[in-house]
Amino acid sequence: MNVTRATFDEVMVPNYNPANMVPVRGEGSRVWDQEGNEYIDFAGGIAVNVLGHCHPALVGALTEQGNKLWHLSNVFTNEPALRLAKKLTDATFAERVYFANSGAESNEAALKLARRYALEKFGEDKNEIIAFNQGFHGRTFFTVTVGGQAAYSDGFGPKPGAVLHCDYNDLEAFEKLISEKTCAVMMEPLQGEGGIISPDADFVKGVRELCDKHNALLIFDEVQSGVGRTGQLYAYMGLNVTPDILTTAKSLGGGFPIGAMLTTAEIAAHLKAGTHGSTYGGNPLACAVAEAALDVVNTPEVLNGVVERENLFRELLGEINDKYNVFSEVRGKGLLLGAALNQDYAGRARDFLVAATNEKLMCLVAGANVVRFAPSLIITEEEIRDGMARFERAVANVVNA
Ligand SMILES: *Cc1c(COP(=O)(O)O)cnc(C)c1O
Repeated sequence: MNVTRATFDEVMVPNYNPANMVPVRGEGSRVWDQEGNEYIDFAGGIAVNVLGHCHPALVGALTEQGNKLWHLSNVFTNEPALRLAKKLTDATFAERVYFANSGAESNEAALKLARRYALEKFGEDKNEIIAFNQGFHGRTFFTVTVGGQAAYSDGFGPKPGAVLHCDYNDLEAFEKLISEKTCAVMMEPLQGEGGIISPDADFVKGVRELCDKHNALLIFDEVQSGVGRTGQLYAYMGLNVTPDILTTAKSLGGGFPIGAMLTTAEIAAHLKAGTHGSTYGGNPLACAVAEAALDVVNTPEVLNGVVERENLFRELLGEINDKYNVFSEVRGKGLLLGAALNQDYAGRARDFLVAATNEKLMCLVAGANVVRFAPSLIITEEEIRDGMARFERAVANVVNA
């Protein structure tokens, strides 16, 4: 059967607006479309393909597990899930793991756990959740309500209640909002979708202290920032602040759908048998791939390599900006970087993305003003230089149009 980009408009719900080519194959940080055109991938499937496309360790784990056992449901446990949970608890503050299939589901579990924990420990009045404007936590109705972007949460009828928002990096506003009624605070330790915004060190520290003062759980949504993206296994490790609950997805499976919620034994005890669940969560196939991804990422070679690659990205973006004067700053951490457009190009991030695709480079936007890069953590120097040469042509095309 012959399918093309035009087929999308015939058979798909129009909630996405994909590029006008259809990728069919990938290897490392290169991808080929139906016409055989070769692309450099600076998008990484939105911070997912942490080891690029078809990494041999992931293909190996997938095929090995694929020939063994695919799925059981949580009526049974399985070896890959147990091994992955052990490795995640060994590598982090956490002592207990709940597996889901996506970031949103991991956050949904975190929010439900926080509500249940507060209810059982402090009573039903402690139910408020505080989150931050421009934050993003997924597209289920609870997570989109906690997320701080009205464009994503409005227009679907009544929302789950007791969710409050304030500005990120505004500790004073946060201090006014938090109270004995707060059960949890959900934040990204580096805002991704909201425009690649790093937290101030004082802000994160202050949020942690105020959570402790008011017996509120601190939930770090590391769905985008986790699994080596910032050069540390999880971003919290670079901030010297430990959350009570951490959610992880995207890079965790290296391209296979999986998510997880990590927490302490004491908090986890409140999600008793039967209180929450998922048919696929902790599926052996997903866990086997994630275990392989974690084994490769959580090594000094890969984690230390992130900083070198970040430096090269920043250097080359700086050179492009010296020539074309399009960015106000390059921000973010590790290989989650955002080039913020200056006044002259305000609101035009998508134009740069389309121009990049035309030059055979895949990249991302984060809002209307930021071009985002979230490539494989093992992208080669040659691939970075080749991709940036393409990006420079794209920038020139936008500037000279
Ligand atoms: C992508 C993302 C999510 C949602 O993950 P899905 O797998 O799309 O459900 C949640 N939080 C953050 C910070 C994200 O970047």
